Amino acid sequence: MVAEIKVEECLGCGACEEVCPQDAITIEDGIAVVSDDCVDCGACADECPNDAITV
Ligand code: SF4
Ligand code: SF4
Repeated sequence: MVAEIKVEECLGCGACEEVCPQDAITIEDGIAVVSDDCVDCGACADECPNDAITV
């Protein structure tokens, strides 16, 4: 399992990218994209200002 981004809720702010300990998130075309390096830790979901991430 990797963190799931609700694309319609994502603001592209990059907060999740900054906090991810695995560097598993990149912002592509204004939307967060999660790679297979995700370990489902939940840090990104805690940081997201728009509740756009489900772990
Ligand atoms: S759940 Fe953790 S490892 Fe996965 S993308 Fe979010 S911060 Fe990174
Ligand atoms: S923190 Fe939330 S709103 Fe910001 S880029 Fe990540 S998923 Fe999108």
